[in-house]
Amino acid sequence: MQKVTIVGTGLGAMTTALRLSSRGYQVQMVEKFHQPGGRLNQIKKDGFTFDMGPTFFSMTYEFEEFRKDVGLGALPFTFRDLDVLYAVNFRGSEKRYMIYRDLDRLAKEFEAVEPDFRAKMDRFLAGAAKFFHDTEYLVLKRNYDSLFQYLITLLRVPVKHSPKLFRSVWTEMERHFESREVKEIFSLVAFFLGATPFDTPAIYTILSYTELVHDGYHNVVGGMYKIVDGLRKELDKAGVVMHFNTEIVDYRQENGKLSALIDQNGKAWESDIFVVNADAAWFRHKIFGRKKFSEQKMDKLKWTLAPFTMYLGLDTRLPDVPLHNYFLGENFKEYSGKIFKNAIKLDQPYYYVNVVSKSDPESAPEGCESVFVLCPVPDMRFKPDWSDREQVADNILKDLSGRIGVDLKKHIVSRTLMTPVEWRDSFNLYKGSGLGLGHDLDQIGGFRPKNYDEEFGNVFYVGASTVPGTGLPMAVISSKLVTERITRAYGPIHT
Ligand SMILES: Cc1cc2nc3c(=O)[nH]c(=O)nc-3n(C[C@H](O)[C@H](O)[C@H](O)COP(=O)(O)OP(=O)(O)OC[C@H]3O[C@@H](n4cnc5c(N)ncnc54)[C@H](O)[C@@H]3O)c2cc1C
Repeated sequence: MQKVTIVGTGLGAMTTALRLSSRGYQVQMVEKFHQPGGRLNQIKKDGFTFDMGPTFFSMTYEFEEFRKDVGLGALPFTFRDLDVLYAVNFRGSEKRYMIYRDLDRLAKEFEAVEPDFRAKMDRFLAGAAKFFHDTEYLVLKRNYDSLFQYLITLLRVPVKHSPKLFRSVWTEMERHFESREVKEIFSLVAFFLGATPFDTPAIYTILSYTELVHDGYHNVVGGMYKIVDGLRKELDKAGVVMHFNTEIVDYRQENGKLSALIDQNGKAWESDIFVVNADAAWFRHKIFGRKKFSEQKMDKLKWTLAPFTMYLGLDTRLPDVPLHNYFLGENFKEYSGKIFKNAIKLDQPYYYVNVVSKSDPESAPEGCESVFVLCPVPDMRFKPDWSDREQVADNILKDLSGRIGVDLKKHIVSRTLMTPVEWRDSFNLYKGSGLGLGHDLDQIGGFRPKNYDEEFGNVFYVGASTVPGTGLPMAVISSKLVTERITRAYGPIHT
């Protein structure tokens, strides 16, 4: 039986472990954190429960594909459709825009600012839909054995889509809509990818199609961490053992193959096959010390935004704040252009607020609320010093208090902060970048770090910084792609 060691227990790792064990591989997992899930993690504190990172996701059918692939009768967690998808607030305006999936209802939200919204939105979404369906299977959900193969595949994408490669999300918005509100709100999808609409290619307007039409957004009954709890139970049943507080810091090779990974205590983890779920670029940089991934080269890559996150337990309810909320300012273009380079003060921040106790009341004591705040900030290339963390937190709390009309400081009974430093140190995220490598044209598909190693034939990668990209559904697709690679090389042991 082929023995596989997986480094990390993020979603990509857990789904790969189940896929491989269902094919007869013997799998073990090593994880530096004290519990599984990677960025899809959980904080329990002072009677409150918080999801640490992801709060909603799209493309549920990727989980269904996974379920069938590993032979589960049912997924060990339950999705909940979101409608309203989210609410958006602009500083200085009383109006709160509710983003409904029902396009007629959505059109009503914007009738005052964007005449003919429905027709314009239909046209915009039709273009995004065509691109999505023309590329989903052809380009996104597949392995490439060479850059040449990737480029040849791109030639098969209908030529009518090529302008989308050269425009930004923002330019695409400007082609379809006039009002500042509509352009800013529907370009937020670029931030979901960890970048700004001004530097994200227009191909990613497919995310507007996936959120509004195709599959929508979902969260999980009982909180997002139920995904990890459920998968962990299935891994236990399959005999996959997870070893926590175990960080890989070195390696041994023999005859052109990786023979063992070495943890911080000097223990050698030997295996026939290794799958790395730690960031695919970071691992090549830090553990394998590859020249192509030197610090100088890593710093030149485009990394996604870094998170500044707060987990607040409040001793009061927030009846007027919905589940998912974006709080934007009035200088969108300037802020987007400067924030990630640390060229603008964080005193009037843009941020996202999730009140998880709205959908999962058990996450907070009776009469209380569990609140997650995510503020995208510069990564540690641009802002290495976060000793001003309390000031940044205060700025956000002051702004949010003013905008929801509740003096939050008076009601905080539990408070946890994570700056890019803690995100980096918890999960080995390069300089605190939250979503891993960016999705610029020169960092996707055949250009992204491969899911097989350049030097060791028995080493593979899964997760956000290899193919296809970041986000929960992409991690599940990534596990499918790496499993295909491994079984192509080693065969299913039994099927
Ligand atoms: C704040 C935040 C909010 C997000 N919100 C959303 C959202 O709403 N929706 C969505 O779809 N996505 C969201 N994402 C993105 C999503 O969380 C990730 O894309 C996804 O979870 C990444 O999974 P992964 O398989 O790459 O593994 P990761 O989560 O990166 O896990 C990798 C694991 O490897 C471990 N590891 C690293 N190095 C070593 C080592 N040397 N030895 C041992 N173990 C090691 C790490 O500790 C970690 O547990 C968010 C991310 C963040 C940070």
